[in-house]
Amino acid sequence: MVRLLLSIKADLENVTDFVPAAHDFEFFFGVKCTSCHEHHPRIVSLNRIEEHPVSTGKDNTAHFVWRCGHCKRESYAKFDASSPPRPYSVDANGNFAPFITVDCRGLEFTSLDPRGTWRCTGVDSGTPFTEVVLEGGEWVDYDEKAKKPVGISGIEGKWSRA
Ligand SMILES: [Zn+2]
Repeated sequence: MVRLLLSIKADLENVTDFVPAAHDFEFFFGVKCTSCHEHHPRIVSLNRIEEHPVSTGKDNTAHFVWRCGHCKRESYAKFDASSPPRPYSVDANGNFAPFITVDCRGLEFTSLDPRGTWRCTGVDSGTPFTEVVLEGGEWVDYDEKAKKPVGISGIEGKWSRA
């Protein structure tokens, strides 16, 4: 197994602690086979709840299982149960910060598509924003308590060896 780290960066406007809204959040990643280097034709999705049977290797189940269309090898990935997603803080604004780790066998994730429902908090007001959905890569709202516009844009993911 290879442990991969996904780091994310974002431009936060007057908010902090940007993180998936729920434990069953569906992550969308690009993926490639490390045996033949073929990329999966589609963005794939996986979450921390659902597990699927694995036919090879030591593990019986994994959060994502894929049989490569090119070399036909089976590969899989498992979230590290002990490390939930780390909220992206305003302290990291515009810079990459560690987000999640995933154990992979026979595959590597290559990209992040930040769709789905996230949440964040007003920096000074503490106002919770619990339904942050990015449209065209952006989210904008207004913090009534702080009387300031809030927003998130410029999200990027970067995979590396943990
Ligand atoms: Zn392959």
